Amino acid sequence: MNGPDRALVARLRTRLVDLCATPSPSLAEHEVAARVRTELEAWGLAVREDGAGAALGGTTGNLIAELPGGRPERVVLNAHVDTVPPVPGEPLAPVVDGDVVRTNGRQILGADDKAGVAIVLELVDALRAAPFDARPTLVAVFTVAEEIGLRGAHALDVAALRADLGFVFDGEVPVGEVIAAAVFKEAVTITVRGRRAHAALEPGKGVHAIAAAAEVVRGFPLGAQPGGAVANLGRVAGGGASNVVPDEVLLEGEARAFTRERLEELLREIHLSAAAAVAPLGARAEVVHRRLYDGYDVPEDAAPFAWLRAAAPAHGVELAKVASIGGSDTNVFNAQGLPTVNVGVGMHDIHSVDEWIDVGELARVVAWVGDALTGR
Ligand SMILES: [Zn+2]
Repeated sequence: MNGPDRALVARLRTRLVDLCATPSPSLAEHEVAARVRTELEAWGLAVREDGAGAALGGTTGNLIAELPGGRPERVVLNAHVDTVPPVPGEPLAPVVDGDVVRTNGRQILGADDKAGVAIVLELVDALRAAPFDARPTLVAVFTVAEEIGLRGAHALDVAALRADLGFVFDGEVPVGEVIAAAVFKEAVTITVRGRRAHAALEPGKGVHAIAAAAEVVRGFPLGAQPGGAVANLGRVAGGGASNVVPDEVLLEGEARAFTRERLEELLREIHLSAAAAVAPLGARAEVVHRRLYDGYDVPEDAAPFAWLRAAAPAHGVELAKVASIGGSDTNVFNAQGLPTVNVGVGMHDIHSVDEWIDVGELARVVAWVGDALTGR
């Protein structure tokens, strides 16, 4: 095992800084997408933009580019081009500190997932130089609107990619850890209804929706639940004038679990606890839930693991399957039948103004996965 290739580290650093300095909040990714497209086209790849931009009201769709190869497999390499919203009024100013690229402490970095974008571009470039017969066909997919509910991936025609396996480079875990199981997630809305009445003249005629909602919150399975499930209420809205017994309160939250069965059980608990909480007060609670994305569990003998495992020792990578309580575009690829894992790239403190990443680790991912893709 050799140390990281210094030329590769330098290239990745330049590429990452350039991408991070270009704003791309969800649904406004045009500028970064244009850079990615220009680079891929300069390498002679045909780049296609799908209809996700128009469908979602964004400034660009997902980008899809193919690098043909002589091996029979078609392999998706994916990263999302959008980031969480930048802090208003603060320039994007990534700071280079040796091999580390970090924020200046006042603005986001967006290595989530510009690091993944840089990796996919480097992998395409590396395999372009590999013998045709040694490489599979690469299908590079740059998704939009990941941070606002995997919406770009949801709008993507996964079947049309005709791929056999996929790698997403969006893992907030150390290099070597591969996220191959993740949760099912459901949005939960609880509408608590009481009865309006004048708060001073006829308070006894009212049914107090805020008081009832408080009981719903008290009975709600908030936080970590048995079996690795978790639920939250994140928003409350309702009420009106201070002299009126309020008749309606809205509670918005979510529930996550690693299996369909556990999630359904948790949702039943939410329904039952809400009904039990409001009944003594004469109020009603209407619980509505909606699947945001499906979970997945890719077995360790599935194709993505076999490819990664073969090349791991030569790069000092200790492969480990891990589970994530968060979602990523990996959820959507798996739900559409494409066995896909989310490769850890060593992101730290994502979605914050303290985010940082070690470019040496990104170089290790590129070298390792590059070898995995060419079967060396
Ligand atoms: Zn991400």
